[in-house]
Amino acid sequence: MDKTAFITLSNVSKHYSIENNSGVSNVNLSIKKGDFVAIVGESGSGKSTLLKLIFGLLAPNTGEILFKGAHLDGPHEKLIPGNDSMKMVTQDFNLNIYAKVFENIASVLSNDDVQGKKQKTWEMMEFLGIDKLADKRIVELSGGEQQRVALARAIITEPEVLLLDEPFSQMDAVLKNQLRADLKRLSNYLGITIMLVSHDPVDGLTLADEMIILKDGKVIESGKPGAIYANPLHMYTASLLGNAFVLPADEARNIGLRSKKKHVMIYPEWVEFKNSWTSKKYIVKDIFFKGFYEELLLERAKVKIRAINLNPGSYKKGQGVQVILNQFLEFD
Ligand code: ADP
Ligand code: MG
Repeated sequence: MDKTAFITLSNVSKHYSIENNSGVSNVNLSIKKGDFVAIVGESGSGKSTLLKLIFGLLAPNTGEILFKGAHLDGPHEKLIPGNDSMKMVTQDFNLNIYAKVFENIASVLSNDDVQGKKQKTWEMMEFLGIDKLADKRIVELSGGEQQRVALARAIITEPEVLLLDEPFSQMDAVLKNQLRADLKRLSNYLGITIMLVSHDPVDGLTLADEMIILKDGKVIESGKPGAIYANPLHMYTASLLGNAFVLPADEARNIGLRSKKKHVMIYPEWVEFKNSWTSKKYIVKDIFFKGFYEELLLERAKVKIRAINLNPGSYKKGQGVQVILNQFLEFD
């Protein structure tokens, strides 16, 4: 099979009503088998709609979706909507809340091999670090734990495609990092194609082979996370992915950045503290402690910029610092 045509969307539009264009419009995508794809966009940009279309829960108004080269059936073409080779995990986990964790996971496997079913369920619970919760009922679990049970239920059937709609939304930072690592492992070792929707760009940046940026229902750019981050085509993307700050071109000129476009954008990590003949003096206006680093608000010629300081405590408010701006982006 052609690896480049695992899931293909051609001119796919799904509008919920005729009056407004809510949903997604003219989406063209080609997803490779085994890829980890992250869909990033602000709330309401059409992320969930896109996943539902690929899963077959929604039918496109126009355009076509192909899965392994064949037409993907929409909800009206199937008795039970959804694709058998795919699993989708959404924010409502669809768990049996009065049943135990073990039963919730085991129940998706067939009874043909009772011993194998048991073993597989334990392996899956261990894989996701929920084996200690086996005998707890879902109602007794935290949101993050429930999310992992839902994920276990989806993965245990070995789907070819795993569609995840905000799987980390209920998790604290530690759990989130663990689950990120688990998902990466899944995609690397089991070769599952994963499509992840997240409002946290870090998920996309750290996990994805391919990142898709959605805005108002349209794919505005896509590509490798590193490339999109370093060289976004849109201001929207830069502010979504990074902590970039925007300066109007005339303000930027006051600190020596010349652009023919209307806006200049800089990621704080591009601001370097350095004494050299090209560096300029800024005043530290404010300091925001972030744990292992600080964010500094700096000012020069009434223009405020933000910088990252990896040695917290090394600067004081009101002090002068020498700074070079290594790089900047330009947008209209
Ligand atoms: P996201 O997941 O990125 O937050 P959605 O795909 O849920 O975005 O929604 C995209 C747009 O479509 C939004 O404007 C939303 O209000 C609208 N929408 C989503 N679901 C429905 C629905 N069932 N009926 C009408 N409009 C909807
Ligand atoms: Mg959504």
